[in-house]
Amino acid sequence: MVDLHTHSTASDGTFSPRELIYLAKKEGLKALALTDHDTIKGLEEAYETAKEEELPFLCGVEISVKFEGPGHFHLLGYFLTPKLEILDTMLKRLQEARKERNFKMIEKLKALGIDINFEELQAIAQGEIGRPHFAKLLLDKGVVKNLEEAFERYLRKGAAAYVPKALLTPEEAISLIEKAGGVPVLAHPFTLKLDRKELSLYLSELKEMGLKGVEVFYSEHSREFTQFLQEKAKHLALLITGGSDFHGANKPDIKLGRGFGNLKIPYECFIDLLKALEKNL
Ligand code: AMP
Ligand code: FE
Ligand code: FE
Ligand code: ZN
Repeated sequence: MVDLHTHSTASDGTFSPRELIYLAKKEGLKALALTDHDTIKGLEEAYETAKEEELPFLCGVEISVKFEGPGHFHLLGYFLTPKLEILDTMLKRLQEARKERNFKMIEKLKALGIDINFEELQAIAQGEIGRPHFAKLLLDKGVVKNLEEAFERYLRKGAAAYVPKALLTPEEAISLIEKAGGVPVLAHPFTLKLDRKELSLYLSELKEMGLKGVEVFYSEHSREFTQFLQEKAKHLALLITGGSDFHGANKPDIKLGRGFGNLKIPYECFIDLLKALEKNL
């Protein structure tokens, strides 16, 4: 079993890149990828530790992409090396956008009568600040009873303190990953909140834009949806990948490599991705 979608303290996970590799070894995973939100800062440490521990490892990133539909669009990019100069400029811009967005969200929460400031957020986060850090802070302050309530009341798309942050269109994000020598993969398709017909059409469009794979195996995908995606991916000749979206204590019910317990991501997903990356060389 492998896990190709994980977060570290470089974004909104609670395990450091090094700890994540140790955990993957301990759990007996055969390969891992680190895919932090809008940053590659954790990759070097994970890459080096994976080498020491002889764990097959892929470098990754998860970029938030503009999406007009009801849900949200995250694009995964996979690479063979942590040195990705081509991505640097754009990721810096994404991180700037994140910062501006965080300040706007603080203002919205203040306007709702919640006493919250940037320093408090910074004390919780070690890398890029995101909504899970807001959720944790709201929980610590006793404003909400759990993280889910924080999202439901304040942070989810459309909620009172939500501010969008994506800068790139799907097309731009896909070509950015490609230019950097990576393989672009649609993350957790269920979050697009499209019905199956719409999703089928959209996947074909994304394929035209250069998408190379779909995250078929995912903690929150039902058996039926997984099967549906598997067939679609095969039909469109897209790679099939999978990951738990492990965030440590920020998503406490999701276990590395196992999701809610019955997630199984075949080793072939890793091998197919690796082969595609080697072809890019
Ligand atoms: P951001 O990148 O700042 O927009 O935050 C997105 C992250 O928030 C996701 O990657 C998840 O880690 C987390 N998240 C989004 N929705 C929820 C939710 N309903 N419950 C818990 N965590 C969530
Ligand atoms: Fe996250
Ligand atoms: Fe995501
Ligand atoms: Zn993720």
